[in-house]
Amino acid sequence: MADREQIPFDVLFVGGGPANLAGAIHLMNLAKNKGINLEVALIEKSADLGSHALSGAVMNPIALKELLPGYKAQGCPIETDVRGDAFYFLTNHSAHALPFVPRHMRNEGFHIVSLSRFVRWLAGIAQDLGVNIFPGFAGTEVLFDRYGKTVVGVRTGDKGLDKDGRPKGNFEAGIDIMAKVTVFGEGAKGSLLRGLATKLDIYSGRIPQTFETGIKEVVQLPENGFFADSNFNDIHTLGYPLGMGAHGGGFIYEMKDNRISIGLVIGLAYRDPTTDLYKEFIKFKRHPFVSRILSGGRVVEQGARALGNGGYYAVPKLAVNGAVLVGAAASMLNAPALKGIHTSMKSGMLAAEAIVEALTKGDFAEKSLGVYQNLLEASWLKAELYLGRNFGQAVSRKMPARLIHLAAQHLTGGRGISERLAVRRDCDTLDPIGRNELQILPTRDTPGDFDGVLFLDKLTGVYLSRTQHREDQPCHLVIHDEDLCVNECYQKFRNPCTRFCPGNVYEMEVDAQTNKRRIKLNPSNCLHCKTCEIKDPYENITWNCPEGGGGPKYTVM
Ligand code: SF4
Repeated sequence: MADREQIPFDVLFVGGGPANLAGAIHLMNLAKNKGINLEVALIEKSADLGSHALSGAVMNPIALKELLPGYKAQGCPIETDVRGDAFYFLTNHSAHALPFVPRHMRNEGFHIVSLSRFVRWLAGIAQDLGVNIFPGFAGTEVLFDRYGKTVVGVRTGDKGLDKDGRPKGNFEAGIDIMAKVTVFGEGAKGSLLRGLATKLDIYSGRIPQTFETGIKEVVQLPENGFFADSNFNDIHTLGYPLGMGAHGGGFIYEMKDNRISIGLVIGLAYRDPTTDLYKEFIKFKRHPFVSRILSGGRVVEQGARALGNGGYYAVPKLAVNGAVLVGAAASMLNAPALKGIHTSMKSGMLAAEAIVEALTKGDFAEKSLGVYQNLLEASWLKAELYLGRNFGQAVSRKMPARLIHLAAQHLTGGRGISERLAVRRDCDTLDPIGRNELQILPTRDTPGDFDGVLFLDKLTGVYLSRTQHREDQPCHLVIHDEDLCVNECYQKFRNPCTRFCPGNVYEMEVDAQTNKRRIKLNPSNCLHCKTCEIKDPYENITWNCPEGGGGPKYTVM
């Protein structure tokens, strides 16, 4: 094993999303006010800050106002403000405006942003305050003390290994970044939390986290596009293309320069194994109501991301010895409102307040850092999360139970028919494939479905996400048992990975010589959305962090 350099910091933030950046900025400001000198680092797996950041995104500015009251004067990159909301139910061919917009979805006055741009801007502020930001460094292992009870830092991944894991000429060993406090803000389904959970009991007593996958595009519209004369610029939809067995919905937001952000969010509790998430997104775009908005447009960028909608009862233990969890990694999404930027930022800021107290006392044990949980319970963040505490469980249910639960929650301030509803894990919800469907499965696109401009096939979408990985590196997707894929999973589900992956990473092919099926992986296409690790019905796929710097290069997502 190569010698590893150790670099000590006071605080290490793992992940360059809004939770950690808000946390780092708040921490530096608080420390400065108290006269504490801090060495703070932030590592991020993408090549540049913001390259892996993807969200709708309508941002409630409540946390930003607390963090940076002069954010507009400081050049915060706001696309536009929401001037009105619209909510539609889509049938196969028509759109029906709902007479009212659900209370969680009333966004007037909020900001429409590109998360990639917003994150880049926050990173600049953090850097100016003295945070050492290291893009292109993927945290691959949590480091514990010799008793295995206290987090002492994170190991970054080696660079320059070949496919078989052997060092090549340009090999660089990963670094052990040591810290008094490590802040895990890796986003939904963060891979380091697996390591944390095996040693420290962070999920005990919580409901399982549930997820949705969002596929999003930024589309350039012609001059005077749909929103030019509209008194609303924030559209949400329910219904088509998702049937009764799946939940989710579409969004269309106005951006500046005649661009729009369009996406479809699909709950991963869906039951039909033939569901192809990407095809559902294309169907949504082809709906007459949506295609009229898109008319004359051109896709500028595309991407995908899973988000955790488990809510308050899925929030893990927020503090352990030497570490805290923030943002989507800590289940901070306000799921009914489909908003996680302000809640993530607030969680990072509350964690920063607890860390400053811990630094003052010189005590980084779970109890000391647990002040974070107390701060959260006393904040608007708790009130917001608590209102949607049973929402993720309700939407995971089949119709009509889903509607009944949601209506009851609406009337009872989130409690619903029973408190702390149970929920199944997303990997357990698929029904076996029906006899009639055994012949499905054109996994390939039908010619004529796509024009390469507004309607893209998966590979063109990957191209427009600017996703790249160094080819000659160990595969970051581990399939634990390939026999399971070609036999049992094929018979029972017809390999849903070939359809839920929006990057066309998984293909089932027949070997020309042996005539046997085999699974083929295209890991270079991976968008880092994490859907495969969440939805695989046998939990046969593990997503590991590839070499730092790989993955999408979003600019306006
Ligand atoms: Fe998403 Fe997994 Fe496909 Fe990568 S391989 S794009 S993480 S589903």
